[in-house]
Amino acid sequence: MTTESAATAARATVHGYPRQGRNRELKKAVEGYWKGRVDADALRETARELRRGNWRQLADAGIHEVPTGDFSYYDHVLDTSVMVGALPARHRAAVEADPLDGYFAMARGTQDVAPLEMTKWFDTNYHYLVPELGPDTVFTADPGKQVAELTEALALGHTARPVLVGPLTYLLLAKPAPGVADDFVPLTLLDRLLPVYAEVLAALRAAGARWVQLDEPALVQDRTPAELNAAARAYRELGALTDRPKLLVASYFDRLGEALPVLAKAPVEGLALDFTEAAAANLADLAAVGGLPGKRLVAGIVNGRNIWINDYQKSLTTLGTLLGLADRVDVAASCSLLHVPLDASAERDVDPQIRRWLAFARQKTAEITTLARGLAQGTGAIAAELAANRADLASRTGSAITNDPAVRARAAAVTAGDTRRAQPYPERAAAQRAHLGLPLLPTTTIGSFPQTTELRTARADLRAGRIDTAGYEERIEDEIREVLAFQEKSGIDVLVHGEPERNDMVQYFAEQLTGYLATRHGWVQSYGTRYVRPPVLAGDISRPEPMTVRWTAYAQAQTALPVKGMLTGPVTMLAWSFVRDDQPLGDTARQVALALRDEVGDLEAAGTAVIQVDEPALRETLPLRAAGHAGYLAWATEAFRLTTSGVRPQTQIHTHMCYAEFGDILRAIDDLDADVISLEAARSHMQVADELAGAGYPREVGPGVWDIHSPRIPSAEEAAALLRKGLEAIPAERLWVNPDCGLKTRGWPETRASLVNLVSAARTVRAEI
Ligand code: GLN
Ligand code: ZN
Repeated sequence: MTTESAATAARATVHGYPRQGRNRELKKAVEGYWKGRVDADALRETARELRRGNWRQLADAGIHEVPTGDFSYYDHVLDTSVMVGALPARHRAAVEADPLDGYFAMARGTQDVAPLEMTKWFDTNYHYLVPELGPDTVFTADPGKQVAELTEALALGHTARPVLVGPLTYLLLAKPAPGVADDFVPLTLLDRLLPVYAEVLAALRAAGARWVQLDEPALVQDRTPAELNAAARAYRELGALTDRPKLLVASYFDRLGEALPVLAKAPVEGLALDFTEAAAANLADLAAVGGLPGKRLVAGIVNGRNIWINDYQKSLTTLGTLLGLADRVDVAASCSLLHVPLDASAERDVDPQIRRWLAFARQKTAEITTLARGLAQGTGAIAAELAANRADLASRTGSAITNDPAVRARAAAVTAGDTRRAQPYPERAAAQRAHLGLPLLPTTTIGSFPQTTELRTARADLRAGRIDTAGYEERIEDEIREVLAFQEKSGIDVLVHGEPERNDMVQYFAEQLTGYLATRHGWVQSYGTRYVRPPVLAGDISRPEPMTVRWTAYAQAQTALPVKGMLTGPVTMLAWSFVRDDQPLGDTARQVALALRDEVGDLEAAGTAVIQVDEPALRETLPLRAAGHAGYLAWATEAFRLTTSGVRPQTQIHTHMCYAEFGDILRAIDDLDADVISLEAARSHMQVADELAGAGYPREVGPGVWDIHSPRIPSAEEAAALLRKGLEAIPAERLWVNPDCGLKTRGWPETRASLVNLVSAARTVRAEI
């Protein structure tokens, strides 16, 4: 292993590329297919065009080896289930009858058959379809899609590397199929799965693959010795195959840790490691195992999941160190570029000052090839790029946007006292009881009411100039009055204005805060054909003006009942945005919290007695490894308290969470010190109420009694039964009655019926107390 040969061999590659196309052509084609407007051949042709376009773009940018098989009509984990023949029994017939329709049926369900469950891909906002496995699962190799896409790329003259979800990650992400015991461990199927991977590898080799990448991000999580042993065994077996391409095992999102020595010893030809956030740890661990002599190291040095330009000088230093540690060092993004939007140059509305700091997928491929060139030929070969990069970085460091002295001074002056309510909970509870005069088991909703076509049309009309601001505000006010009238009539105790003015619970605030920007074309796949545009936390955050007071105050003026003010919390703002990478997350959270704290203060001053700060993302932002949990929860809960603790004792602070298993954040929920928390609970039959009670949670709780993710209307009896269940854990003085989440995705008919039943259930159960 000589430094020189490693350097001259440096190549550029990526693990994956955004699938949707410049104008979200894939979304349009797939949804068109579902609606019968696009036929299967046209859909396939669109997909082929998109792949061809992506490869061409990558190759033109100087990427030496393009990925194949990362494309998907819906999700690459579902594609893997198809590849290994792990189809749920309930979908098998449909897939056999028509593979494409069967595929979409697994993804989305049909009238009669439930889809696969969907969950988050590690700590990203991408969602995958969870494989369902059991002791009876029989795997069969179906390499068709992988082979076809490789063949396509090779025919176009590209050097191509198929990318597959690795066998460990596939099994570790799976869950027991319906009807299989909960304690079934999918990893026990490894020996059955490996021969199928062997077949796929052989097929890919026969189709011309020289390298195949096996993605094993599950190995960056805390793994048991048994799981690490399984990894060692898997790669020993796959490595021992004679009829196979070279194997590149890829890790990303965190350090490989204990799995690094395992993979370093395995008979595979290459490893991909994340040298962005996990750089220091991976470097140290790599040095500790004596490097990867004889192997290819793919260095994920360009952040694949954030949108900031790379620091070339810093990257070249890291890459230089790596040269001594492997036979060949290639330059890549840390993970698939699936997690970033396509092209920053399309953002014409973004302040050009900020735009030069942004790198989306397209810009990142240029960065990767520049770094590969710098590594192979020396910095002289990229002198101009280095100089421009230095200037861009300096413009960011020195910018007034990233350095607002007033914001910095205020954040620095935060004291422990600022993050604590002045009165202990029991005193606050008494003051709130007197102030609000609510009945036992008070009823409320989580904030949003149905987002009707009329509302969306009103927003579009405003944007297109068909109506003016006054006209738009009139429509919003009409909607608020209607929502309030319905709530009053149905007997709800704490009202909401319904959030009709909000396009999205994060973007609405991002658009109004200084230092936060929304993009126009920055679409990122969330799941299937659903794309989101995460806003960008670009600079120091401040609030030029109140953001919600106008609507909440308007609503409060219409009714004598309390109207709940509604804000998105600081942690959720960070979780669903692209965050700054030039300061700790906790610092950004604190700035957002201070801006929100002012909003809370203004709401209170405008007469709002109940203020809800939603934190649905508190759990999902938990770092992948347990070692990071305490540090994260410390700043996250502090940011929430900083947002909410400036109010008087009689002002009641609510929070709301959903999409979560709450088990491992019960302490953090307590640390928020909110007076009331509403949680998703209907599907799990109020399990969270038991968990909170078991953990000694002392404050008020509203476990949802209506599963709003389904169009089903819960009967009054059903809701009452759930409430009685809740009362077994939480005393009546501390139990609230509410749905699982906001109602923006529901229609009016089911909303009306369900809320009427919910109030009736509350009345029935009150009478029993
Ligand atoms: N207040 C928000 C709403 O009702 C909360 C949404 C959420 O938790 N995801 O829509
Ligand atoms: Zn929710």
